[in-house]
Amino acid sequence: MRRRIVAGNWKMNNNLSDSTTLLEDLKTQDFKDENVEVFVAPSYTNLALAGTLLKDSAIKVAAQNMHQNDGGAFTGEVSATMLKSVDVSTVILGHSERRAYFNETDSLLAEKVNAALKNDMQVIFCFGEELEDRKSEAHFKVVEDQLKNGLFHIEKEVWKNIILAYEPVWAIGTGETASPEQAQEMHAYVRNTIKATYGEEIAADVSILYGGSVKPANASEIFAKPDVDGGLIGGAALDATSFAAIANAF
Ligand code: PEP
Repeated sequence: MRRRIVAGNWKMNNNLSDSTTLLEDLKTQDFKDENVEVFVAPSYTNLALAGTLLKDSAIKVAAQNMHQNDGGAFTGEVSATMLKSVDVSTVILGHSERRAYFNETDSLLAEKVNAALKNDMQVIFCFGEELEDRKSEAHFKVVEDQLKNGLFHIEKEVWKNIILAYEPVWAIGTGETASPEQAQEMHAYVRNTIKATYGEEIAADVSILYGGSVKPANASEIFAKPDVDGGLIGGAALDATSFAAIANAF
């Protein structure tokens, strides 16, 4: 069944003390609709802390990345099994910052998706075009290629573990949001692309989040669109009141 989801990507922000404060603040917020699933994605060093502090809360914890191997000589990396050992079973993969600054290609992401699914993890799979792509009207093709090359090798049965996040790169951290119509247009396109490959039921059931400068002031008109099932939130997730307001904006 399609779920409504708001996930906060903290990126490389918040040390132990900042994270403690933000997590405690989040626990005091009134998340009004229990059918809206809420995730926070702190950095690796704060995942276990988040799990402990949010133990009695409905807020779930996700990781921002993971390595495609289960273990071994990969200095500086963190595996799915390590994440699972601190009770993290959701991971964001394919964020545009990972693609741009850490050379994460579609084929690497396909491996990461496989590793996550093999370890029974849920994946928040990000994709989205750059400004140039939109200007040259290549945005649908770019998105379709990202999905086909990074994700469409998976079996039908595991789609229940996939959440999609459309994040136009030009809207991330820029203050410039896609209009609700632009978001809807792309989400509908993505759903149709999934339908063509995997069928009606999977297309109808998958949650597609929008990400890119979502704020309390613009969340409700974006979330009101029929193919937008929530948001992946960066900057506004660093403030508990703003984040809760976004989660309450359905
Ligand atoms: C993000 O990093 O996924 C994001 C959407 O950031 P922001 O909300 O700050 O644009």
